[in-house]
Amino acid sequence: MSGSDFAYDFPHRNLLSIADLNPLDAEILFSRASHWLEAIRTANRKKDALKGLTQINLFFEPSTRTQASFEIAGKRLGADVVNFSAASSSAKKGESLADTVRNLAAMQADILVVRHPAAGAAAHVAALTNAAVVNAGDGMHEHPTQALLDAFALTRRLGGLGGRRVLIVGDILHSRVARSNVQLLNLLGAEVRLCAPPTLTPVGAAGWGAQVFTRLDEALEGCDAVMALRLQRERMAGGLIPSEREYFRFWGLTHKRLDAAAPDAVVMHPGPMNRGVEIDGALADDEARSLILDQVEVGAALRMAVLELLGENARKHNGGRA
Ligand code: ASP
Repeated sequence: MSGSDFAYDFPHRNLLSIADLNPLDAEILFSRASHWLEAIRTANRKKDALKGLTQINLFFEPSTRTQASFEIAGKRLGADVVNFSAASSSAKKGESLADTVRNLAAMQADILVVRHPAAGAAAHVAALTNAAVVNAGDGMHEHPTQALLDAFALTRRLGGLGGRRVLIVGDILHSRVARSNVQLLNLLGAEVRLCAPPTLTPVGAAGWGAQVFTRLDEALEGCDAVMALRLQRERMAGGLIPSEREYFRFWGLTHKRLDAAAPDAVVMHPGPMNRGVEIDGALADDEARSLILDQVEVGAALRMAVLELLGENARKHNGGRA
């Protein structure tokens, strides 16, 4: 037995896309995340729900928060956690993703947390192994745990998402965070808005289930929460904005700009944040308005919930072995 005490049926072997979840799944994850959040706020943070399981974090793209958060989450639940990053892995020597995964599976990995620049990489990995696979970001496609932790942080702050108006502003074109968030926020009953310069608005964004804006002041009207996104220069082939100064002037979040939103509107950011580009530093640091560090704190608890539920299922299906 794992030592965990939940009795929910979470019917998933992997977490690859928000599209695979229903509102009850999200509720189950939030309920377990609340439990873990309380637990990690005490001195007795070390638990044994994943004792005996091996979690491998396989990161082919840079990460600060996500990798550390998954590592901390796995360790707090008692898993043996191993980190592989592209810079030091055999991918540099020409090994394919499939071969890397087959080798890790042969080492009896139970959970693989995968970040990769190619859309669909995590699903590809899941097809190659019996280990539970968590998508920690696949190119511009999805970042489901970011959306879940964002919705969890927002639900805690707003007391529910039904009927709430949430704006995502910035480089929507290259953002897996936006793609996962739009789906989850819609699933949970929020009204979603997107705002970006025309060059950073994806073709077809109007069909995502969100209202699309170019002018920030218009988009902000009546919003309960605003999420700022970084300009993902690493995914841009050329200059899609005139200059960072110009960008901040039209699409940067400031206290003054936020006056157009609902009176207690909160700001969010998945990080890494570029102060003075997509968000003013004073606003990011304003504890009354900013949920940014809250997102990070509750994110570790949310990832504990994901690892716990998938780890339990891996145990059931594989006897704890990939
Ligand atoms: N950390 C987020 C991601 O991995 C957002 C970003 O990089 O801008 O997608």
